[in-house]
Amino acid sequence: MRDEDLATCVSCGLCLNDCPTYRVLGNEADSPRGRIQLIRELVRTNDAPGASVVAHLEACLVCRACETACPSGVPFGRIMEGAREVLRERVPGSRRARLLRRLGLGTVARPTRLRLATSLASFYTRTGLQRVVRATRFLPARLRGMERLLSAPEGAPFDPHELAARPAADIALLAGCVIRIAFGETERSTVRLLESDDRTVTSPRAQRCCGALHAHSGDGDGARALARENIAAFEGSSAPIVVNAAGCCAHLKAYGAVLAGDPQWSDRATAFAARVRDASEVVAATSVRAAVRPIRVVYQDACHLAHGQQIRRQPRALLQALQGVTLVPIADAERCCGSAGIYNLTHPEVATELERQKVAAILAARPDIVVSANPGCMLQLRAGLRDAGSSVPVVHLMRFLDDPAACLR
Ligand code: SF4
Ligand code: SF4
Repeated sequence: MRDEDLATCVSCGLCLNDCPTYRVLGNEADSPRGRIQLIRELVRTNDAPGASVVAHLEACLVCRACETACPSGVPFGRIMEGAREVLRERVPGSRRARLLRRLGLGTVARPTRLRLATSLASFYTRTGLQRVVRATRFLPARLRGMERLLSAPEGAPFDPHELAARPAADIALLAGCVIRIAFGETERSTVRLLESDDRTVTSPRAQRCCGALHAHSGDGDGARALARENIAAFEGSSAPIVVNAAGCCAHLKAYGAVLAGDPQWSDRATAFAARVRDASEVVAATSVRAAVRPIRVVYQDACHLAHGQQIRRQPRALLQALQGVTLVPIADAERCCGSAGIYNLTHPEVATELERQKVAAILAARPDIVVSANPGCMLQLRAGLRDAGSSVPVVHLMRFLDDPAACLR
């Protein structure tokens, strides 16, 4: 937590109407300005904050829409990650909450556990068990909220180890955690698109989870340990480090700030971060395949791409390079869909309202397909569209660019 970050907010309030939680909850304490005020009070003493302060800070999506709106350049994502770390130290929560947090973060950070969880989810979705559970509605509300996001994995998991021994490669891929296990076709499409421009992709064996979820949930030590491992894994080359999950990419670009307080690692972290690129910044427009028929596409801006990395033009330019594609705009395109990591599980009411608004905006545009660049948004929108009775598919930008026809089958 840096005093100079907190000092940048001049309390002008220009961010309020762009904050999704303020718009849904209508409370100043659930706005960026209100939360910054609470955080200033939090760090003024070493006391444990009251329950309502914890609730207002935990209700933030860390969507960073306030960073786009703020004329003073408040680094809100960084401030909130610091605040969550302080909360975890002073208010550790119940034993059950701590156990669940450890289990969840431990699962995303360990490929074997994640593979096991994905195999169970695959068995559940493919055997008809899912249909029975949904029809009987016997699950409690919170578990129902988790269950509705489950969908069958996209092909076989992607194995980055197959690309490990390529010393002459000119692109290094960070394969991610959930995306490599549950979105295998998207990963293979990303590699095909990157290599279609006469380049070679490698993916170091020692890479780990990026640590974004750890940082967002206040596990600063876990986030910093993962950052150090990734920096070491990708050193020894100056090749761009390419990522196709917006949340991971935004966090990797912030490694300099994550390890700013560690004199042994801060320079290495800054050098690592300077190499990180979202896949849409690297894939050439000449690599995309032609669409076979006219297609109406809604492009859903992932918050950590639009607000976290200010990347809006590149994905749209790639989509417009596809012959036959019409990009159809939607209302409030940059408002969060409610996914935000595990927010849809911790704050189902706000997440459901944001999802409802997003789905209504998408359906009003009458698209043939929805394209996004973040796995969390894709799962949330798939569930929302399905519950609204729509069969419009939701796919990753890289998969669509690689083979638009296959995505519409
Ligand atoms: S990060 Fe998003 S939810 Fe949090 S205060 Fe900023 S705009 Fe609001
Ligand atoms: S975060 Fe930025 S826009 Fe919001 S009140 Fe502070 S200075 Fe104004």
